[in-house]
Amino acid sequence: MSERELREQIALHGKSMFDRGLTMGSSGNLSVKLPDGFLVTPTNCCLGRLDPDEISRLDSVGNLISGKPPSKESFLHLAYYSSRSTERAVVHLHSTHAVAVSCLKDIDPNNTLPPITAYFVMRVGRLPLVPYFPPGDTALADAVAESVRTSRGVLLANHGPVVGGCDLDAAVYSMEELEETAKLFWMFRGVPAKFLTGEQVDQLNKRFPQ
Ligand code: ZN
Repeated sequence: MSERELREQIALHGKSMFDRGLTMGSSGNLSVKLPDGFLVTPTNCCLGRLDPDEISRLDSVGNLISGKPPSKESFLHLAYYSSRSTERAVVHLHSTHAVAVSCLKDIDPNNTLPPITAYFVMRVGRLPLVPYFPPGDTALADAVAESVRTSRGVLLANHGPVVGGCDLDAAVYSMEELEETAKLFWMFRGVPAKFLTGEQVDQLNKRFPQ
């Protein structure tokens, strides 16, 4: 896919997610890996109104090459790619149901969402919690890089999810699966429910390795 097509794809996915309430205001950011750097959504921009020409182009270490200044959270994306070199796109949102899960007191930090469906296990798998860091704290980058070594997605405490994929379509679909699973999780709070067993999750992980 050409850089032009990737820019248009970022704008299309951004608008689609904004229109469906997955992201609000100027929150959320998307990135795609290029052979010699990255495309990242700009700072203070609304994902619903992205201009493909204004998307920030960064070099391989995060310096701005062209476009508007990048999202202040672009360091999260670079940290993600540094640990998972096979992924080509990353999505980070402040989506409501996942953020709500990230604030729970009784959450399992090794895996914040149960295996409600096979699709969540195949697309996201284990979703560990990254401890809270204030905005701009670069220690968050190290914590994300460490967590994604063993997991495609992570949930930042009191903040939101980060997930990657082999291309932008895959990363967006995984994020949508994650947010829908978080929504289902809230529907099941206090309701007796049957989720996938450990054996069923192991079977899926063997058939569809992350
Ligand atoms: Zn954020």
